[in-house]
Amino acid sequence: MLRICKMFPLASLAMVLLWLPPVEAAMVKATMSAARALQLLLDGNQRFITGRMEHPNESPDRRREVAKGQHPFAAVLSCSDSRVPPEVIFDRGLGDLFVVRVAGNVATDLTIESLDYSVKHLGVRVVFILGHTQCGAVTAAVKGHMEEGDVGPLLKELQPVVAESKGQAGDPIENAIRDNVYYVMKKVAASPEFQPMIKDGELKIMGGIYDLSTGKIEML
Ligand SMILES: [Zn+2]
Repeated sequence: MLRICKMFPLASLAMVLLWLPPVEAAMVKATMSAARALQLLLDGNQRFITGRMEHPNESPDRRREVAKGQHPFAAVLSCSDSRVPPEVIFDRGLGDLFVVRVAGNVATDLTIESLDYSVKHLGVRVVFILGHTQCGAVTAAVKGHMEEGDVGPLLKELQPVVAESKGQAGDPIENAIRDNVYYVMKKVAASPEFQPMIKDGELKIMGGIYDLSTGKIEML
């Protein structure tokens, strides 16, 4: 063995590595249960709707506290639209929400990987997909030129939803906004990292549509 190691140092390293037990991905324990986290989100939105915001966790003490480490209780994937800031519409403060924002709240590899990080390493157990009324990205996808080769990556991401919602009764943009949230929820839930946790009821993928005028989130 020693001789083999001397002759083939790389081979010996490989042998040592093979004998090591597989490294399990460290899963940080939940910040709080999915049910409790969802309740906090809905309570915060209710305060926002009625204008009775508490603006929790915005003090200098909280700032110093979370500088030592973050333990957000929910992740939110929302549109970049300036009228839909998750911390404001859920009436939350520093260190509460892990927010991923991209126009059209689409689920790309990058957005899913970010959400995955919040679940595995920060203890998040609710992932909330937040669409909104009058979404410019979805509107562009419905109205825009969707011919092959004539679209950027964002509109391409929305293409399946636009195709699916075509011919449905009702407003085509509202339909596409709703279908997009469902589509993204499914896509996020299909992540192999999330599957076992969803099956065990430990992780919830929720979705809703924020109304720009009323501030209310309609749960899907
Ligand atoms: Zn939008």
